[in-house]
Amino acid sequence: MKTISQFDYIIVGGGLSGLHLSYSFQNDNYFKNHKILVIDNFKSKKENNFFSFWEKGKGNWDSILKSKWRSGKFFSNYGNVNMDFSNYNYKTLNSLDFFKFVRKKLEKKKQIKLIKDNILKIREDNEKVVVVGNKKNYYGKHVFDSRPNKKFIREFNNYTTLKQHFLGWIIKTKEKKINKKSFVFMDYRIKDKSSTAFTYVLPFKKNKALIEHTYFSKNECEKNVYEKYLMEYIEKFLKISDYEIIESESGVIPMTSYPFYKDSSKKITKIGSAGGWIKPSTGYSFYNCEKYSLKILKNIKKGKSLTITQKKKYMFLDKILLGVLSQFNHKGDMIFYKMLNKNKTDRILRFLNEESSNIDDLKIIFSLRSIDFVKVFIQSLYKKIL
Ligand SMILES: Cc1cc2nc3c(=O)[nH]c(=O)nc-3n(C[C@H](O)[C@H](O)[C@H](O)COP(=O)(O)OP(=O)(O)OC[C@H]3O[C@@H](n4cnc5c(N)ncnc54)[C@H](O)[C@@H]3O)c2cc1C
Repeated sequence: MKTISQFDYIIVGGGLSGLHLSYSFQNDNYFKNHKILVIDNFKSKKENNFFSFWEKGKGNWDSILKSKWRSGKFFSNYGNVNMDFSNYNYKTLNSLDFFKFVRKKLEKKKQIKLIKDNILKIREDNEKVVVVGNKKNYYGKHVFDSRPNKKFIREFNNYTTLKQHFLGWIIKTKEKKINKKSFVFMDYRIKDKSSTAFTYVLPFKKNKALIEHTYFSKNECEKNVYEKYLMEYIEKFLKISDYEIIESESGVIPMTSYPFYKDSSKKITKIGSAGGWIKPSTGYSFYNCEKYSLKILKNIKKGKSLTITQKKKYMFLDKILLGVLSQFNHKGDMIFYKMLNKNKTDRILRFLNEESSNIDDLKIIFSLRSIDFVKVFIQSLYKKIL
């Protein structure tokens, strides 16, 4: 017979969001006597991906960073922009270093338990939540769930949804001629003309870099499409012919207006991708995972709702931007060029981190003004779902 274990908080999934949340719990003395359980099924082998984000000054992850940059570049056929990351550094770490770092911290805390089990079901039962695992049932006062959101998988077609899909190569070159001072935020010079697609470059050493070909579009491509663009880019713009591919990473990240916050309940909070923690218009989530985890802790202390949602203004602006990218998918390079060219990098990064002032927002909206935005804005007024 299955035995029962009781906890204050249960975190289902020890991936990015689950570990960010557990890290915040273990870091806060207020929770030192709370029993916390983190469960992961470890079904698929954890890939060693590169997680990037930007933040001001020092951060919690500085000791495990792979690299950071103070300057970035944007290239397109409309023009180029030098981006100043001296205030908000652009930081990159390896996901396996992050997982190892957090798990080590958690293992030192007596009140936090990490276990392996496959969770089949989570249901509310009077005062408690029952987490039904293959091995056991677990009881918690509140559960944070980062398993894939099945409702979203069924319904995403009813909302404006794009996929950020990409293939990246980590290459090692014979000659040491990569410029490692600046990373490439977006390079639209080589791309499929009908889509928002660009190359992203993180130079780690003079002879080592990650080069990724990324689409913001409706559907994934065959592997050889990304490969063709990567080869062309390396030859034409990095001017490298002799290189070895030492690792690769690929992914599909949803960018959607789906209202994830509706899938949480009073005692079960969806977190991570399942909870809408991925910024719809960019696909970034690392920074949100940290910020939203801290907000959850704050709300627990204040007795407020633990469903963290985007502020309404950002939800609306993301919806419009996503709507424009979706309906005019070939115009992404022009949109991002206008945004980056007419605004200081700090303002854009504040805006994308959802920490901008109303003046910042107005300046960005004004810089983007075009008939396409007007059309999508009008649609948003009469369409219930965009
Ligand atoms: C290749 C790649 C690169 C990326 N790069 C960046 C980046 O540079 N910057 C950025 O901000 N974002 C990036 N992202 C996006 C973001 O990091 C991911 O979307 C993020 O991993 C989402 O976190 P999560 O906790 O929702 O999901 P996950 O990290 O996938 O965690 C979910 C966890 O739940 C576990 N689980 C699932 N089902 C069960 C079950 N039934 N029982 C028990 N456990 C279960 C899984 O094993 C997993 O560990 C990238 C994504 C990919 C794929």
